[in-house]
Amino acid sequence: MISPREALDQVLHTTPVLGAERVALLDALGRVAAEGVVSPRNVPGAPYSAMDGFAVRHADLAAAPARLRVVGVQPAGTVLATRVEAGTALKIFTGSTIPDGADAVVPIEHVEEREDTILVRQPCAPGANIRDAGEDIRAGAVVVEEGRPIGAPEVGVLASVGRATLLVHARPRVAVLSTGNELVDVGETPARGQVVDTNAYVLAAAVREAGGEAFVLPIARDRPEEIQARLVEAARADVILSSGGVSVGDLDFVKGALDAVRVERLFWRVAQRPGRPLTFGRLGTRLFFGLPGNPVSALVCFALYARPALRRMQGHRRVHLPVVRAVLATPLKKAPGLTEFARVALRDGADGLVATPAASQSSGALSALASGAGLLVGPPELAELPAGRAYPVVLPTDAAPPSETPAF
Ligand code: AMP
Ligand code: MG
Repeated sequence: MISPREALDQVLHTTPVLGAERVALLDALGRVAAEGVVSPRNVPGAPYSAMDGFAVRHADLAAAPARLRVVGVQPAGTVLATRVEAGTALKIFTGSTIPDGADAVVPIEHVEEREDTILVRQPCAPGANIRDAGEDIRAGAVVVEEGRPIGAPEVGVLASVGRATLLVHARPRVAVLSTGNELVDVGETPARGQVVDTNAYVLAAAVREAGGEAFVLPIARDRPEEIQARLVEAARADVILSSGGVSVGDLDFVKGALDAVRVERLFWRVAQRPGRPLTFGRLGTRLFFGLPGNPVSALVCFALYARPALRRMQGHRRVHLPVVRAVLATPLKKAPGLTEFARVALRDGADGLVATPAASQSSGALSALASGAGLLVGPPELAELPAGRAYPVVLPTDAAPPSETPAF
């Protein structure tokens, strides 16, 4: 039996970063750049006006009030050949290119318009209301580095420098395999002794949340040949996630099936609860996670071990779930010798976060993980976690908890 940290290190050590593919710009959202992008141009490409108003020479307004002759009108998107000479102004708009000769923009609000002249009452500084060429991005600047996760701002920056496509790391294809004689698919009414195959759904959903492409294999009954056949069917997967059948019962055939199809088993059994029977192996670059059957154990093992691997495959450098510290509200019994990942609800207290254990810590009680529960990490040496002490808590998603109220 190895420690959770040793298990995680082995998983990450074994996990390859997947190759790259070129995708349309919008499809790069949520992916990780596999190339650095250098801007071929200045953004903005030419100086332009930040206001509706008049392009002027600031020196003409040094002794304001001053009257200037209006020599033309230049909307955004139009570029006139007209130069702004001493004593003249050109009417322009937000986004209009600054005409040659002008070095400032007087906002329309500061001007009295009369036929073809304007009266300006105040002086203005050189460069006033002008956005310079390259003010946002300089030609030659790196706008996205290799390894950068692509969010909406990155998509916008790439568009502004003219990139219609991006090289990104591939998403892992993940085969999800449930094992068990007792399982029926959702939609069937379980007879006495049967249970709905929850794991296929929760794991496929978790794979999608982690950026992978999940495909669910037909349920394998507890027969070695059937499990082996499914493993062979999953050949096009980068990762296989099975659940069930990894304990020490007479019908736990997953480890034997792995050996039969020559998966190299790297570990079996981790000193943790839930999820002690977790199994991990590889076949070439393909990873195999044998998750325990209890839905909580399966999802906790996914979150702590498989999810970081899926993120690493996609090129992410930050692969772990966020961790906060919270004070335990009530004492919690745990198994000595095992690291406990207790399901807790978090709330704000006077001195920071407070963690209250979910009513059921059973590894079958999946509802205790729903609605944003965290996993409080109890160290192996303790048999009981005293209340009033702070412990690390793994949050269930990357996003900070959304706010009920707006910030303004
Ligand atoms: P096992 O690890 O196969 O011994 O299963 C442990 C427990 O998890 C048993 O109560 C199983 O019925 C349950 N279980 C196994 N696989 C699933 C599944 N795919 N969906 C829901 N429960 C499952
Ligand atoms: Mg089973």
